[in-house]
Amino acid sequence: MANCIFCRIVQGEIPCAKIMEDEHCLSFLDIGPINAGHALVIPKKHYPTLFEVPDEDLAACATMARAVGKAVLKVVGAAGLNFLQNNFRAAGQLVEHAHFHLIPRHENDGFLTSWPGKAYAVGEMEKLLQKVHAQLQA
Ligand code: AMP
Ligand code: ZN
Repeated sequence: MANCIFCRIVQGEIPCAKIMEDEHCLSFLDIGPINAGHALVIPKKHYPTLFEVPDEDLAACATMARAVGKAVLKVVGAAGLNFLQNNFRAAGQLVEHAHFHLIPRHENDGFLTSWPGKAYAVGEMEKLLQKVHAQLQA
């Protein structure tokens, strides 16, 4: 994907603060960190979202994310770390090359620690569950 910024980083056409790489994936520091040490892990091949990433690449990214996350957490002395992944614009995805965020977190750093939950109407959860089961069989 010639016009994809992350593909260009993989190709070495754009520099990155590389943390590590293997044959499947690459990890580098996010250029606009939410907190210092914010890192990304990306598959080297271009997949627009999580849903196109093959099992092998996904497993490699998850393994790399665990290692990088552990290192970053220690280096910046974080109290926590979010492992996040956005799919499609409505969920905040700006770069259309699947990627995983590793965001070090500190006590009272001012960012979200929990999402506001709401209640299902009576029977709504069961109906939804049936539909999900059916979709998984489709
Ligand atoms: P998302 O909103 O999930 O698509 O996140 C895209 C992330 O990529 C943002 O956190 C950006 O700061 C980051 N980003 C964009 N361009 C670069 C780049 N050239 N090097 C490092 N990180 C980048
Ligand atoms: Zn790409």
